[in-house]
Amino acid sequence: MKITFIGLGKMGWHMAGHLSKQGHAITVYDRDRQTAQKWVGAFTGQIAPDPRQACVDTELVVTALPADEQLQAVWQACYEGLKPSTIWVDHSTTSAHIARELSVQAQSRALSFIDAPVSGGTLGAQNGSLTVMAGGDQAAWAVVEPVVQAYANKTTWLGDAGSGQLTKMANQICVAGIGQALAEGLAFAERAGLDTKKVLGVMLKGSSTSWMMEHRSEAMLQGEYAFGFSTKLMQKDLRLVLQEARVNGMPLPVTSLVAELLDELAEMQDPNWDWCSLMERQRKAC
Ligand code: NAD
Repeated sequence: MKITFIGLGKMGWHMAGHLSKQGHAITVYDRDRQTAQKWVGAFTGQIAPDPRQACVDTELVVTALPADEQLQAVWQACYEGLKPSTIWVDHSTTSAHIARELSVQAQSRALSFIDAPVSGGTLGAQNGSLTVMAGGDQAAWAVVEPVVQAYANKTTWLGDAGSGQLTKMANQICVAGIGQALAEGLAFAERAGLDTKKVLGVMLKGSSTSWMMEHRSEAMLQGEYAFGFSTKLMQKDLRLVLQEARVNGMPLPVTSLVAELLDELAEMQDPNWDWCSLMERQRKAC
């Protein structure tokens, strides 16, 4: 399949790499030209000078961009040049609103836009074991789902446009509380003078175990955060969740608190660090 991949960051780099290894004809574009050049040095594919040219004559556009603003900019640059029947799969975490809007615009030109945010972190992207939550045109999703499975081991269509993003929001609500609870539990064990490695060994087999505990507690204990899902992206995700919850009239007390703690954290240290660096805020609070 002729595929255009836009956004070669922590996630997109690996996802596009898996598609290339599967033998698809890939054209890549990233705002950071050096990143795109490094990607074509590491994988088979070609580089486009701008998003519009990247999308000419393609069958599938895949995006992994930071947020609504960047998705909107790339969409506007590419939209007119897309040939009818092109499918666009967006793996960025965005608002459900933009997903619905782009889906309507797509239909007006016989294109398909699918919101398909992911979970599983950079390790999931690297290992090809992401979870993908899709919303939008179901028939188009059926066409591209086997392609997406190059980097995912769980792919689910959830419903109309925006349903993927709403599902991702539910996921982020759950994970926000878990991340802060993990910081509190580990900092508490440290303060009590316990052997934290042993504590972790016990908890991983107990009822408090979680993806966060399995994949982030080592870094939290070591105080090493220059990897993973940045504090600023998690701030963005929780802002999206809280906006949607305001519309729904749904109180989210724990998520609101974690959003405030992340704002504090981003002022305190590098906002590009993984958001599990909430541990440092907790340590300082002790
Ligand atoms: P990232 O910041 O590492 O990568 C984004 C990439 O997009 C960068 O290479 C950047 O140069 C490029 N970019 C930005 N604006 C652009 C534009 N206008 N045109 C072309 N390229 C542009 O982000 P990431 O961690 O790869 O995350 C991507 C998306 O996936 C985000 O929406 C994030 O919330 C979501 N996500 C990330 C993770 C994670 O663990 N990192 C996990 C799940 C979901």
